[in-house]
Amino acid sequence: MPRKTTISLIKCDVGSLAGHHVVPEPLFNIAGMNLKKAKEDGLVSSYHVFNVGDDLQLLMVHGRGESNPEIHKLAWDIFQKAADKALKLKLYGAGQDLLKTAFSGNVRGMGPGVAEMEIEERGSDPVVAFAADKTSAGAFNFPLFRIFGDPMNTAGLVIDPDMAGGFKFEVLDTVEDKRVVLKCPEEMYALVGLIGTVGRYMISRIWRARDELLCAVGSVTKLSKIAGKYVGKDDPVMIVRAQHGLPALGEILVPFMHSYFVAGWMRGSHWGPLMPVQVKDAKCTVFDGPPRIVALGFQVANGKIASDDNEKPMIADLFDDPAFDMARREAVEYASMLRRMGEFEPARLSVGEMEYTTLPQILAKLKERFEPT
Ligand SMILES: [Mg+2]
Repeated sequence: MPRKTTISLIKCDVGSLAGHHVVPEPLFNIAGMNLKKAKEDGLVSSYHVFNVGDDLQLLMVHGRGESNPEIHKLAWDIFQKAADKALKLKLYGAGQDLLKTAFSGNVRGMGPGVAEMEIEERGSDPVVAFAADKTSAGAFNFPLFRIFGDPMNTAGLVIDPDMAGGFKFEVLDTVEDKRVVLKCPEEMYALVGLIGTVGRYMISRIWRARDELLCAVGSVTKLSKIAGKYVGKDDPVMIVRAQHGLPALGEILVPFMHSYFVAGWMRGSHWGPLMPVQVKDAKCTVFDGPPRIVALGFQVANGKIASDDNEKPMIADLFDDPAFDMARREAVEYASMLRRMGEFEPARLSVGEMEYTTLPQILAKLKERFEPT
């Protein structure tokens, strides 16, 4: 039997330094200490802590399967401890994403974002973990379609016989809480019809059609639906497997060679250009952005993240590369263009998306002053 290994990427905004822009060192230390202990106790076999903007990211590899209560409790406890520390330090937005108090076995629906996949390890299993700040899960629809559905992006769809059967996409309707599975290439146009509406339909899982091999999972959360009001954007994470009958690493990264627009940015109320950055530049400054994305590459091997001679997981910071300078420059140019428009659409999100912000409170005050024409 091939070994089954679980990759869990669980994230939470537990408080940030000087506004919503970056996770400070003391919160990393709490995550690092607790995961070190979890590794010594045998709960996880590998871990890596990082951030994108104000989101604390826990990457864990273990053998306990998806939605495992012990793994989720570990993450929940870390976020709570980090939030307590943030509160003591009077950091900004301390505990902002911890929307519920009593843990009931799974962090889904409680505020943190989760991408998890249990895989049977292949001979070699390259994986990319993506995390973005100041945007929402629909931001991944575009690159996921490019990677797994678009032969102009992924040469393997044309050239590799192992990929010729195409891929199946699970799409969630976050308004009706329903799901549908569509197969590419046959249903490509219908898929684009759905996932082009990024605020409602979100790709949650992708399988290789011919053998149901799980290739990609994304976090799909609507914090506003959990909380009933605007509480920050649902900054998404996703895990994508690469190579050997799947898109090559370069085919997974090439959609980020250009910037594209995502919903989020300042107060979760604006369209903004997504900027691929190395982890050290994953801090959101200008108008609380522009929205940033990081990509970490690693190998899953024998139930762990492949490690160096000192047992340190080997993690590649994939956007730490001048090849993405053009996208970064575009992001700054597009950001400047949109900011010139201030609070006029399309710089600001449309009225449906603004429903969960504080704008309706402002507009409600004008209601009585409107007269029939
Ligand atoms: Mg965030």
